[in-house]
Amino acid sequence: MTVQDALQRPIRDLRISVTDRCNFRCVYCMPKHVFGPGHEFLPRSELLTYEEIARLARSFAAIGVGKFRLTGGEPLIRRDLVGLIGMLSGIEGVEDISLTTNGSMLTPDKARTLKQAGLRRITVSLDALDNQTFMMLNDVDYPVQKVLDALDNAEAAGLSPVKVNVVVKKGVNDHSIIPLVRYFHGSSHIVRFIEYMDVGHSNGWRLDDVVPAAEIAERINAELPIEPAEPNYRGEVAQRWRFVDGGGEVGIVSSVTQPFCRSCHRARLSARGELYTCLFAARGHDLRRLVRDTELSDDELTDRLSRIWSVRDDRYSEIRSENTLSLPKVEMSYIGG
Ligand code: SAM
Ligand code: SF4
Ligand code: SF4
Repeated sequence: MTVQDALQRPIRDLRISVTDRCNFRCVYCMPKHVFGPGHEFLPRSELLTYEEIARLARSFAAIGVGKFRLTGGEPLIRRDLVGLIGMLSGIEGVEDISLTTNGSMLTPDKARTLKQAGLRRITVSLDALDNQTFMMLNDVDYPVQKVLDALDNAEAAGLSPVKVNVVVKKGVNDHSIIPLVRYFHGSSHIVRFIEYMDVGHSNGWRLDDVVPAAEIAERINAELPIEPAEPNYRGEVAQRWRFVDGGGEVGIVSSVTQPFCRSCHRARLSARGELYTCLFAARGHDLRRLVRDTELSDDELTDRLSRIWSVRDDRYSEIRSENTLSLPKVEMSYIGG
């Protein structure tokens, strides 16, 4: 069964946040002045259990979801994530299971066991190649080399091509665009530059902080010529660009300056079990109550999800304006990027 929303968009992928905790304090995501020592994270009893996640995932698969991405917070902080991947990979209709991580816990052994459990793809976030900028961004003095080691570990485990996510903030790390492009040019890794977004309220986002996707492409093209490449599939978030010299490709995610709401087939499940039908939604639908506190059958649960999706009309990025900036929004670390 494929369920379409009010704007005829089918649901195809689900991002599952398995924790709201993280060992980094990236200034654009979990700034220390908000996520400091006094911040209260969710107690374990509030989190969905893996059995609850797997049950929901089966219902999502029944309405059309074929791809799951595990995220957070830092997903590798949650114990036995490998076990959850094993449970998800057994679900009928699942084509793809991927993971977004900061790489800090991606040891060779962890990468291998994730792959063996059924993980297909991995994205590692890395915002700069020089320690000074990267440490200033992660704000916990985490060195670049350890993330580069994590990329090697992922590749050695057969999780390649690995995607490397770079959030670009003007005046902070836009000088890293070219060094990153040069470093990964000709390698099996694919760098994806992401426009800095106004997710949540704690990062103090301003439009002036965004380097537009068109400018990122121009800057890359001036150094190493690129040409547009066809999307891998309908609704792919990153615009693909291929190096003219055959050195691989880069991606650019233009969520702010060229929104792609029209082909947005994605839902997000928070660690607490709320379903968000848009990254910028103010409120989620409480699915934890449905799986924990009611006697709904699997068919009834699937029917509830189908009804939620079928009335969805979100298109925040298309209507973003001065007025929408002040609307209530959930934090990125809470629902996952
Ligand atoms: N901790 C993991 C990581 O950093 O890869 C997974 C969760 S993180 C919230 C997922 C992705 O969202 C990361 O690539 C991160 O860089 C990106 N992100 C966080 N805040 C962002 C923002 N304000 N604008 C754009 N991307 C953001
Ligand atoms: Fe943690 Fe990822 Fe957010 Fe950075 S972007 S603070 S690593 S959740
Ligand atoms: Fe999808 Fe909402 Fe982002 Fe638009 S703003 S692409 S609807 S998540």
